[in-house]
Amino acid sequence: MLFCMVVFIVFVPGVTTGCKGRLISKGEEIKLGQDAGDDFERKYGRETDPRLTTLVSTIGADIERAAEPPDYPYDYRMLADDTTNAVAFPGGRIYIFRGMIGALNSNRDKIAWVLAHETTHVARQHAVRRIERQLGYEAIIALILGRKDSARIASAVAGLVLLDYGRDNEYEADRMGMLHAHNAGYDPTVAVAVLQTFQEIQAREPNDFEIMFATHPGNQDRINHAKGYIGQMGWRGAYYAP
Ligand SMILES: [Zn+2]
Repeated sequence: MLFCMVVFIVFVPGVTTGCKGRLISKGEEIKLGQDAGDDFERKYGRETDPRLTTLVSTIGADIERAAEPPDYPYDYRMLADDTTNAVAFPGGRIYIFRGMIGALNSNRDKIAWVLAHETTHVARQHAVRRIERQLGYEAIIALILGRKDSARIASAVAGLVLLDYGRDNEYEADRMGMLHAHNAGYDPTVAVAVLQTFQEIQAREPNDFEIMFATHPGNQDRINHAKGYIGQMGWRGAYYAP
């Protein structure tokens, strides 16, 4: 995964890692996510089955009401691709892949936690901060303004959203995802079951598994972390009761 990141960056002229330029505004962040998201969904295609798209949009609307802070224009979309994955773009565009819905057996609690996990990457600005760090202000503005090389910059953004966010951000997304799912009326203990499912898929199909949870921290650490948070919050649910 890290190798991919380097390749993407090498293809963007003038882009360096660790650039310290100014931070983009919220309006720019939203536009960045929409432009890069449009590029991303052209690659995979939008799901057209209304049963599935309605399932995602109604659960997404529940999560949006519970998200903190709620002031992004969250937009939950489904891709017609059998990869087991879900990703967040800066500013509120969130995609869940058809393969993920299948792996979760269309279970509403499970989908709610996955969407809430991704929502946290937006709400806590994990997504935009990483893109700023990796691509720098100038490249982001070039993308927003549609300047030369904007297509390649959009690809670079799409490559970044496929990577995990590192230990602290992923743990935070797991915890806040549980909290927001709980506040939206879903069973937060489902996180344990979802992480166990990912662990099983990863053991069975390690090469196919491009998931929000693929690398760091490991799934067993996340299961333990999730159980600890459920205990701390005093939740008892259908999937785990400490
Ligand atoms: Zn994540």
